[in-house]
Amino acid sequence: MARVVIIGGGPGGYEAALVAHQLGAEVTVVDRDGLGGSAVLTDCVPSKTLIATSDLMTDMASAAELGITMVGDGGQGTAATTVHADLAQVNARVQALAAEQSRDIEGRLVRRDITILKGVGRLDGPRRVIATLHDGTEQSIDADAVLIATGARPRTLPSAQPDGERILTWEQVYDLTDLPTHMIVVGSGVTGAEFASAYQSLGVPVTLISSRDRVLPGEDADAAVVLEDVLTRRGMTVLGKSRMQSVTRTGDTVTVTLTDGREVTGSHCILALGSVPNTEGIGLQEAGVKLDEGGFVKIDRVSRTHAFPVYAAGDCTGGFMLASVAAMAGRIAMQHFLGDAVSPIDLGQVSSNVFTSPEIATVGATQKAVDSGDVIADVVRLDLKGNPRAKMQGVRDGFVKIFARPGSGIVVGGVVVGPRASELIHPITLAVTANLTADQLAAAFTVYPSMSGSTAEAARRLHRV
Ligand SMILES: Cc1cc2nc3c(=O)[nH]c(=O)nc-3n(C[C@H](O)[C@H](O)[C@H](O)COP(=O)(O)OP(=O)(O)OC[C@H]3O[C@@H](n4cnc5c(N)ncnc54)[C@H](O)[C@@H]3O)c2cc1C
Repeated sequence: MARVVIIGGGPGGYEAALVAHQLGAEVTVVDRDGLGGSAVLTDCVPSKTLIATSDLMTDMASAAELGITMVGDGGQGTAATTVHADLAQVNARVQALAAEQSRDIEGRLVRRDITILKGVGRLDGPRRVIATLHDGTEQSIDADAVLIATGARPRTLPSAQPDGERILTWEQVYDLTDLPTHMIVVGSGVTGAEFASAYQSLGVPVTLISSRDRVLPGEDADAAVVLEDVLTRRGMTVLGKSRMQSVTRTGDTVTVTLTDGREVTGSHCILALGSVPNTEGIGLQEAGVKLDEGGFVKIDRVSRTHAFPVYAAGDCTGGFMLASVAAMAGRIAMQHFLGDAVSPIDLGQVSSNVFTSPEIATVGATQKAVDSGDVIADVVRLDLKGNPRAKMQGVRDGFVKIFARPGSGIVVGGVVVGPRASELIHPITLAVTANLTADQLAAAFTVYPSMSGSTAEAARRLHRV
């Protein structure tokens, strides 16, 4: 029986553990912070649970347009005209849900007799892991293969140190019990944009500080324009081309000083400055594992590092830092080592979503690649405001965009901006994955009326005679 040791119990680690067990290996997972990892405890699950509340608040904001008026006691005998999020309750729900999800994952592993060691793991050469358990004891485990899935953590700067109360990393926001009176979000990548959008929907005045000329510099530019337009229309202050120099706190006030000397003051600040990998001090380089200049583990498309039999998966390897990609890379590592049928990971097929309001979902080829000539494709963009379902729901912002090869019509990518874009992207993802043509995508029935009708219509417009 092959012995597999996995360091890190996030999606990269626990999904690999399940596959390794299924393929007959004896599996040990060493995990420091709780099964499910940052994905479940501090990042993906908590943020999307918070956003479930903020999405409902966004829907409520358009209630009047759909003919809903609020009646009843708004306090002191007045009629209720506003909805209010109780952040203490919201965050209690967030934390309870995350903890439950972590317990569920642990239960799944335990039921399969996967050994879980709670503590810190490090390599002692490529075939041995030393686990320092939380009770201070050490265990040495010999392995036929090791998977490094230690994830990443929020980047901070010496001039912008979180205090856990008002200057916060994204891991610390769930301890807030009162709505901030003015939230400043530094960083307009995916995480910054999601939190800025969420707090705005919760009714908090938000200033978003972006070092680039627009929000979401890594995403489809048309989509970013729609989002920025919606956020500013709803009252957010977006400061473009504004680089943060420092963040300081005086009493209840947080001041963000920009490199050009301007100052922005608020009650709280979230630092969304990117991630650093958890790869230092765990014996990687000593074992022959190579890191890039950012400290991320270098791997190939079946998750092999430079030191056989050490594999790595997930955020500690950089690239697409997504739970879905971490899980896939972890599974592939185990399939490869344990001799199962395996296809190397294809990052050109990853679908991802920015959970702002509206959402932005993308898959495959990008507009940037098409514009630069790296990908030859026809592009059709169809705005949602003409869609009958969108009209019924009061949705005006958003679009579907599909990229298809000019000759064959094969769909190579797409973008959806709108409510629940994360769900709407799936047919385009299927088309990209299965090499379907735009005609095939258009030929499948869609429900009338539905947002996905716009996907079929965009595909129809790509038909070439
Ligand atoms: C705010 C936010 C929201 C996100 N939302 C989404 C989303 O909606 N969808 C999505 O797909 N992705 C999302 N992501 C990304 C996603 O969370 C990560 O891609 C995912 O967590 C990566 O999984 P992982 O297994 O590599 O690492 P992690 O989830 O970070 O897990 C790593 C685990 O390793 C443990 N560990 C670290 N070092 C050691 C050690 N030496 N010994 C033992 N254990 C160790 C840690 O305690 C942790 O449990 C989000 C990220 C952020 C920051």
